[in-house]
Amino acid sequence: MKIVAATKILKANDQLAEENRARLNAAGVFAVNVVGSPGCGKTTLLEALFGHWRGRLRPAVIEGDIAGSVDAERIDALGVPVVQINTEGACHLDATMIAAAAESFDYAALDLLVIENVGNLVCPAGFDLGEHLRLVVLSVTEGDDKLIKYPAIFQRSHALVITKVDLLPHTNFKLDQAAAGMRRLAPEAAIFQVCALHGEGVAGLADWLVLQARAVPRSPSQSPRSQQS
Ligand code: MG
Ligand code: ZN
Repeated sequence: MKIVAATKILKANDQLAEENRARLNAAGVFAVNVVGSPGCGKTTLLEALFGHWRGRLRPAVIEGDIAGSVDAERIDALGVPVVQINTEGACHLDATMIAAAAESFDYAALDLLVIENVGNLVCPAGFDLGEHLRLVVLSVTEGDDKLIKYPAIFQRSHALVITKVDLLPHTNFKLDQAAAGMRRLAPEAAIFQVCALHGEGVAGLADWLVLQARAVPRSPSQSPRSQQS
């Protein structure tokens, strides 16, 4: 019998994630890992963002779901290149899956790779995919206590997007408590409030992500500045 320790699996994942990141960097593609519960509005947020990125960024999407392709079909309907990963039971994406899915894309034709992770606030926190930025989505209908109950995923994110804010009057969600919790867990993280379905707040997030994408480090061989003088 062979026992493989979880720390070893994570180490192998981290190594592959670095390789993914190196490939993205070499092509100047910025990658965002979108995490959050099932139904928090990840796909709806992406749909809303694409409208603001038209003509500014060339995006592609990797959709992670246990089964089916409903989200990938929604992205495809917007004319955005998309690959669906079916994890067949696994509750998170890992770097191997991203490496395999990325083969379908021509990185030279892209500026931004958005990875929509499997809906889950637990293990996606532990798996680096090779992204540059992790964006955690929390809908007001889930409750502001999620930051207390699932700290790791918020701690390891660079931005918190609070969604469905139009429903605030129908919930006991406290925006200030959620924001305070995020500042405690990830003091550097940016915080956004949006209603993706109707568009409020999406432009600001879209602009911020464009700025982040432009800051992607490129490999020395790709950088005009590294040319010999
Ligand atoms: Mg989705
Ligand atoms: Zn998992």
